[in-house]
Amino acid sequence: MGAGDARPKMRIPFSKPYIAGKELYYIAQAVTYGNIAGDGHFTRGCSNILESRFDIDKVLMTTSCTSSLEMAAMLCDLEAGDEVIMPSFTFVSTANAVARTGAKPVFADIRPDTLNLDENKVEERISPRTKAIMPVHYAGVGAEMDAIMDIAERHRLVVIEDAAQGVNARYKGRALGSIGHLGTYSFHETKNYVCGEGGALCVNDPRFTERAEILRDKGTNRQKFFRGEVDKYTWVDNGSSYVPSEVVCAFLYGQLEEMDELTQVRRKSFGHYRNLLTPLRDDGFLQIPFVPEHCESNAHIFYVLLPDSDTRDGLMSTLREHGIASVFHYIPLHSSPMGAELGCNDIELPVTDDLSGRLLRLPLYYELSEEQQREVAERIDDYLRKRGRRFDVARAS
Ligand SMILES: *Cc1c(COP(=O)(O)O)cnc(C)c1O
Repeated sequence: MGAGDARPKMRIPFSKPYIAGKELYYIAQAVTYGNIAGDGHFTRGCSNILESRFDIDKVLMTTSCTSSLEMAAMLCDLEAGDEVIMPSFTFVSTANAVARTGAKPVFADIRPDTLNLDENKVEERISPRTKAIMPVHYAGVGAEMDAIMDIAERHRLVVIEDAAQGVNARYKGRALGSIGHLGTYSFHETKNYVCGEGGALCVNDPRFTERAEILRDKGTNRQKFFRGEVDKYTWVDNGSSYVPSEVVCAFLYGQLEEMDELTQVRRKSFGHYRNLLTPLRDDGFLQIPFVPEHCESNAHIFYVLLPDSDTRDGLMSTLREHGIASVFHYIPLHSSPMGAELGCNDIELPVTDDLSGRLLRLPLYYELSEEQQREVAERIDDYLRKRGRRFDVARAS
């Protein structure tokens, strides 16, 4: 969803999945148990870890964060003409979940410091048709949930946290995904904890639990049947096939067991980039990520902001020439072809337009060595100092 995804054949790739421990052993175990469809031992194991670690009432494992977002949109009973407020600076799935119900994504601008939905720009987008707000926790740093929940309460809206990037990150001590009425996680191979393709729906408001189980299981009440609450299961609602396979959950279980170790290594790499790039920041050549005091990040993304998009593009090609992959995102959704078709492009989002054109993500994965990070930083230093473009004094302050 950006451009410049230069994954193949880079000496330092952008991201790289990692075997944390017992993933393959657990897959073998799942096969031995004789049940590799969904909702067996490992599916329950993954839900249990997430529920207890993050203090979430009900976690339903799904096939992807995209599926979880679709379920969340269905749980809000969205219909044609309804509206949902979200950032334009996000992955396509946030908006697609809403658009496919016939409802309209209404984009609001982001904060210049965290690149998260600007809580002060939300209320002006509310109309009588607004049903929900979808904050996205960009880079694993929490959006301003207190303010967002307060707005939602006053206007009786549902809050769906797109916490795809926010697994094991916290806002004022609370796990991202556990704060809104609904929250969604991703375990896609580019995220912090992975199983190839996978996700979860966090149900924090019990009024949604029963229906969420039905939507996830092809519109049937099979979960009730499993619990012995009904003596046969049948078709009771809409739904689809959102239950992940035990094979996938067995792999994920091995990752979730090592969750804190994986995060610790990522945080270390994040801090290392920050130290290496601080001199360039101090000299006005780039900006580095900001994490508010009250947010505990999971170090999902390390990005830099360059003074202009030509410098960003030039830096990206220079790094590529040296075998270093870097990527940018997002093409803001309001300026995408689908955004135009849905009539979501007739708004001004100056911060989104500006920052998305100047952002570059650096390689970040478990096995990235300090030496490789030093090399990345040296290439950046070389290029930017030679080019000589700095931030305006006004912008840098
Ligand atoms: C990765 C991501 C998604 C989609 O996750 P999948 O598990 O690949 O469906 C959705 N929203 C955001 C913000 C993401 O970063």
